[in-house]
Amino acid sequence: MHEVDMTKALILTIKNWWEEQPDRPKISTVHLTVGQFTCVEPAGLQFAFEVQTHQTFLEGAVLEIRETPLIAFCHSCQAEYQPEIGLRYACPTCHSPMDDIRSGRELKIDRLEYALSTDSATDLTPTKVYASDL
Ligand SMILES: [Zn+2]
Repeated sequence: MHEVDMTKALILTIKNWWEEQPDRPKISTVHLTVGQFTCVEPAGLQFAFEVQTHQTFLEGAVLEIRETPLIAFCHSCQAEYQPEIGLRYACPTCHSPMDDIRSGRELKIDRLEYALSTDSATDLTPTKVYASDL
């Protein structure tokens, strides 16, 4: 199960951050960016997250998933385009094969919301996790 392993890696990343916090805040929402090209099912991710956070420090935390579309760049046309399966992901203008993916492959934590005071949010900058690394 792809989503189960993804979720394990995700929770580990959050745990590492959480354990470094002196006040161990209660995390309320995890904002996640998931690229369409990662082949991760958001519903499967939600389910795995719920199961794996049960009775942990993340119990009750909400997983907010934002999907990013697949975007490629064509060097011949010097333009970005949205690849389509029907065109075998080739450039719709010149039909060059897709060779430069600009977005859609990422799986990363955007930010965490936690309940220390109202509206606190933090950036987890060094946590870009690409699907291919997991
Ligand atoms: Zn082109």
